[in-house]
Amino acid sequence: MAKTYNDIYIETRRFLKEAGVEDYSTEARLLVAQAAGKTVAELLRDMPLYAAAGFDRKVWDMVERRLDGEPVAYITGSWEFYGVPLDVTRGVLIPRPDTEVLAEAAVKLFAGVTGTPRILDLCAGSGCIGCALAVHMPGARVVLVDNDRKALALCRKNVQKNRLDTRVMCIEADVTKKPPMLLGKFDLITCNAPYVPTAEIETLDASVKDYEPYQALDGGADGLDVIRPVIALWKSVLKDSGSLMLEIGEGQAEAVRALLADAGFTDVRALRDTGGTDRVITGRLASLEEYNTDA
Ligand code: GLN
Repeated sequence: MAKTYNDIYIETRRFLKEAGVEDYSTEARLLVAQAAGKTVAELLRDMPLYAAAGFDRKVWDMVERRLDGEPVAYITGSWEFYGVPLDVTRGVLIPRPDTEVLAEAAVKLFAGVTGTPRILDLCAGSGCIGCALAVHMPGARVVLVDNDRKALALCRKNVQKNRLDTRVMCIEADVTKKPPMLLGKFDLITCNAPYVPTAEIETLDASVKDYEPYQALDGGADGLDVIRPVIALWKSVLKDSGSLMLEIGEGQAEAVRALLADAGFTDVRALRDTGGTDRVITGRLASLEEYNTDA
């Protein structure tokens, strides 16, 4: 018997619910919409329509992957970050709500500021932070940096997807080394580096450790192997009084605050995620005058 999209949605939702998927309704909508090549809004509109023969097989293939533990974002190949639609692949981290704390702080930093701030997003991954900032700040010029070619190719796709080509550039560089010449100076540097201490990776959720890229998580023995050179080497491309915003892991706030203070940053603050954990550290590079008075 022919089935409507609604029939298939209801069945999918039931499967996911019985399998213990927490957000089963949302995920069922995302999977069915993706299989149908529709947006969720289009799916909701088309729910009473009959789906083509064989369509349910396509959905079940996706449901099987989900029940195997694969995150829904990798199955659908897309995810939303701070209201911005993005493509995602297994080569990059799935953008997280925790990282929206950083995006929000960056947008607030420039609220009411006219002009064209220059923003540098390091360890860009999918390009989520940089693209979101460019979308929310139509005056901003953004440079995305990653050391991984596949991630950069995805960044370029996301830049195009959000029609940001004239304001966002993607550059290949290793953030543990000095910045390339001719980057110019920036008003803000954002960075969600890999920061999980190597020994803790094993303890992460299976959906993270089995599916997300190791190199996007592994921050070395104390988790700060990438954050340290970012602070020490990349402050050279910050303008006088420019800001740095770093996502960090649990328990890293004090160590990162100290690194920033030692590197000449002032107004160093920690921002919490929705779970109450210090998740972002922000600081402003003290201007030469401030530096001399402080010293
Ligand atoms: N917050 C991520 C996690 O789920 C880690 C992200 C990162 O290392 N940048 O563990």
